[in-house]
Amino acid sequence: MKTTYNRVTPEIVASLRQIVGQDGVLTTPEALEPYSHDETVGLSAPPEVAVRVTSAQQVAQVLRLAQRQRVPVTPRGAGYGLSGGAVPLHGGIVLSMERMTNILEIDRENLMVTVEPGVITGELHRAVEAEGLFYPPDPASLDSCTIGGNVAEGAGGPRAIKYGTTRDYVCGLEAVLPSGQIINCGGKLVKNVTGYSLVQLLIGSEGTLAVVTKIILRLLPLPKVQVDLLVPFDHFQAAANTVSDIIGHRILPTTIEFMEQDSILAVERLLKKDLPYATAAAQLLIQLDGNTQAAVEADMELVGDICLEHGAHDVLVAKDRPTRDRLWEARRMIIDALNHESPVNHMEDVVVPRAVIHHLLKGIKEIALDHDVRIVNFGHAGDGNVHVNVLKDELADEDWAALVPVITEEIYRLALSLGGTITGEHGIGATRRRYLPMALDGAQIELMRRLRDLFDPNQVLNPGKIFP
Ligand SMILES: Cc1cc2nc3c(=O)[nH]c(=O)nc-3n(C[C@H](O)[C@H](O)[C@H](O)COP(=O)(O)OP(=O)(O)OC[C@H]3O[C@@H](n4cnc5c(N)ncnc54)[C@H](O)[C@@H]3O)c2cc1C
Repeated sequence: MKTTYNRVTPEIVASLRQIVGQDGVLTTPEALEPYSHDETVGLSAPPEVAVRVTSAQQVAQVLRLAQRQRVPVTPRGAGYGLSGGAVPLHGGIVLSMERMTNILEIDRENLMVTVEPGVITGELHRAVEAEGLFYPPDPASLDSCTIGGNVAEGAGGPRAIKYGTTRDYVCGLEAVLPSGQIINCGGKLVKNVTGYSLVQLLIGSEGTLAVVTKIILRLLPLPKVQVDLLVPFDHFQAAANTVSDIIGHRILPTTIEFMEQDSILAVERLLKKDLPYATAAAQLLIQLDGNTQAAVEADMELVGDICLEHGAHDVLVAKDRPTRDRLWEARRMIIDALNHESPVNHMEDVVVPRAVIHHLLKGIKEIALDHDVRIVNFGHAGDGNVHVNVLKDELADEDWAALVPVITEEIYRLALSLGGTITGEHGIGATRRRYLPMALDGAQIELMRRLRDLFDPNQVLNPGKIFP
């Protein structure tokens, strides 16, 4: 069934101004431009109006109005998504959470923090760390993206291997249903098996089931000691064997990131400076943490020895914050560097069981050779999640347009054949929805559609996302 939507009329704009105030509503093309895209290359669609809400009650009023008028609503955090989730494909209203930026409570006794959805994830980190507490999920975009966007995407990050993803920390949510009803699910509870978990259903629902307006997150005590190791290898296979061996020695690092040489060289060219070990075929960036210097150093020695046994050229250790930040600089700059080098590019986010990640990378190299195209890989070796970047470089526009779907399918087929799936942390959004049937069978997609229809029979909330 094809849903049709109405346009945003001057009367609707006037009603929106009554709800959120004059300066909360944006309507000019220049003001709306930033709300027409996220960080997905080559995807944009302008909204007819953007509304900057400050409370759940305002969200509820906007949704009720949108239901009455059959106007689509696209929730938006910071627009740092990589699958087009916040792009208003059908126009209508963008519902921006940028003014809901309060950290409402840091509850030291219960190890919980309560936040509004527009809080920038990095600011949340700093606020709880100042109290000796720790919120582990750390998407590489953390200084720009919002915690609401992280919940809606089920965001991951480098620390997933040891600490899990956003999903593992959300204990309670206040959310506004597409009907305008406000619900509170979960709470400051580490255990809760009261009925189906609506909290878990809303996490990763990409703004299609409800708008999240308050989030209760579990915290941990902040580990007292952290060290980072940068380790260069001649072959990725050696790096992959090292990862298995480290875990085999009963050490679970906080992160095990990998970077192929091409990604380091791209960052060198962007920053116009030499980076360590840029001649190595692959690098691992390993972080260890713990509560005593002695315990962390013992792990560090063992991990260093294991790396050298597997043929690492060297092990560069960073213990203090500035040196550690320098080691992470290259990793955090890769996406910017690749965008700079080939502004037209295509990024995939496949995930496979950790133990077969080298098969995935080998297969991707073969795909690149078959199509004579540059593919640069980096990502989370610790959890099998690879960011695959296909670069257009000098390819003609029509050849590129024909190549992207073919290569995407080949990468997905490869990941699925290895027991993986098509996205580990960036979501289906707009860009992957046509491929959903490759990863999920018809029965599952139908069940998900029926769930969406139950929440939102008129498909007012974030239409055009997830479903093929
Ligand atoms: C350089 C870079 C590095 C990145 N690294 C990582 C990484 O390591 N790990 C990772 O997981 N992701 C990563 N991402 C992707 C991205 O940052 C995450 O998906 C992040 O969660 C998006 O948050 P946002 O606030 O920008 O959300 P947006 O892009 O604004 O929105 C994302 C989705 O969430 C919905 N949404 C937003 N807020 C709400 C709300 N309050 N209620 C309901 N729905 C809502 C939107 O409708 C949309 O579908 C990276 C992106 C970039 C550009």
